[in-house]
Amino acid sequence: MKRTLLRLLQPSMLVLIIVFWSSIPASWIDNPFTVTAVSIATLLIVQVLELFIERHAGWRTYRLEFLTDLFYAVIYFGVISSVEDDVAEAPLAAGKTALGITTQWALHSPFLVQVALVIVVVEFGQYWMHRLMHNSPVWWTHAPHHHITQLNAAKGLVGNPLELFLVSLSVVALFDLRKDATFCAFTILGVVSSFAHANVRNTPPRWYSYIFTTIEAHSLHHSVPYQDTRCNYANSLILIDRLFGTFRAGEASIVGQDDRRRLSILEQFMFPLRPLIARVNARRGKSSPAAG
Ligand SMILES: [Zn+2]
Ligand SMILES: [Zn+2]
Repeated sequence: MKRTLLRLLQPSMLVLIIVFWSSIPASWIDNPFTVTAVSIATLLIVQVLELFIERHAGWRTYRLEFLTDLFYAVIYFGVISSVEDDVAEAPLAAGKTALGITTQWALHSPFLVQVALVIVVVEFGQYWMHRLMHNSPVWWTHAPHHHITQLNAAKGLVGNPLELFLVSLSVVALFDLRKDATFCAFTILGVVSSFAHANVRNTPPRWYSYIFTTIEAHSLHHSVPYQDTRCNYANSLILIDRLFGTFRAGEASIVGQDDRRRLSILEQFMFPLRPLIARVNARRGKSSPAAG
């Protein structure tokens, strides 16, 4: 009985999210705080689950980890989301209007079709951005997320702010969609990503793991050897990795990079400057006389 309930954790949360967004009053949907409040509430639920059904004792959260996660949650919900709206979403929507682009077919599709459309569009963009990060110098912005030494529900929000901004970019603003369907999709993406980073011991149904990213697939992406991180790029829709041949089955319990040293917030913020600092230091070393 308990095992069945645990298996159905993620699917039932997705159903509850769909029921919630498709039945709340219009005034709630128009309130800009509703989507943030729901995202935070669902994150808190996964965090509470970590206390009761722990996956690995080594991932148990402690004060410094919790405060770091809290810091990034505030940065994400308080700053990055609104910067994203102002510098990416709003100009994209304005450009769409100016060019007279309309996608009325999307607006008149059933609620669930619109939800699925947003999930696919967002995840397709995230997949390629994430894959690019692992195969180009953009890695220096993403590396701090891989230097985390344990996985927890809010760890998807932990990383260099530039990376968090880049990975959140999407072209959803080009589509005409119902607000409630868009918010529903974002809440689903958030919950799946929280579970994919969470220290929660449960095995969802096989169909769920086939479509959505789970802790098994994502922990493997957080493996210590850099080469082993080059798989399972999809933040929430692992189906994309299956389609593009980057899916790998398995699970990791030891996560981090290099010597697995935990980075401070300052180090996470400064990390993308490391190649530049190394180059400056190398130049200085060349120009200064050799030491004894
Ligand atoms: Zn990665
Ligand atoms: Zn991750």
